[in-house]
Amino acid sequence: MARYIDLTGQKFGRLTVIKKVEAHTKNKGRATWLCRCECGNTKRVIGQNLRNGHVRSCGCLAREKSAERSRKHGYHGTRLYQTYIDMMRRCHNPKEPWFQSYGAKGITVCEEWRNNPKAFFDWAINNGYNDNLTIDRIDGTKGYSPENCRWVDFSIQNFNKPLSSRNTSGYRGVSFNKATGKYVAYISRDKKFRHLGTFDTAEEAYKARLKAEKELYSDLE
Ligand SMILES: [Zn+2]
Repeated sequence: MARYIDLTGQKFGRLTVIKKVEAHTKNKGRATWLCRCECGNTKRVIGQNLRNGHVRSCGCLAREKSAERSRKHGYHGTRLYQTYIDMMRRCHNPKEPWFQSYGAKGITVCEEWRNNPKAFFDWAINNGYNDNLTIDRIDGTKGYSPENCRWVDFSIQNFNKPLSSRNTSGYRGVSFNKATGKYVAYISRDKKFRHLGTFDTAEEAYKARLKAEKELYSDLE
């Protein structure tokens, strides 16, 4: 039988060791202890993790700390808070419809922001966030992180998206009509197509498109 230091009865943080137990398969051969936490839960912990202080509760300590952090940050109910929630949903909630375009394609929220909303809020405030701006990923193939994000006007965000190969004007939502020599602006959402007018220049047509976008897409990212 392997030798080990008997920890029965000792206290480590919120945990009191009850008795030695069979180790989980992945920890085979390492002395493992059943502990009772001050909150009433029990937990199996490897002796080494108790002695070096890595594990000090059943998990309730970390949960309390994170709850306290989120109470303290004071952003509940703000637009910025909603931005955070939406970003997390798109990337990390498979039940979210937008997940198909984000999480499912490997677009994630960096670990720091994922674990600590306050880190995200601090970054936002220090990087010029205001309620008229939306979050934008500089490289659309990469995830949300301080290195790859910035706050932009909605219009800039649209310029960055790749245009369809069928686009004839160089502007999103604007096509060139060869027969009339004019530019046609259009917009579509949820399979509804709306004609926005005919214009002499691509720029004018694009302005109409941007105006329509602000109205139609204001509830999205
Ligand atoms: Zn506990």
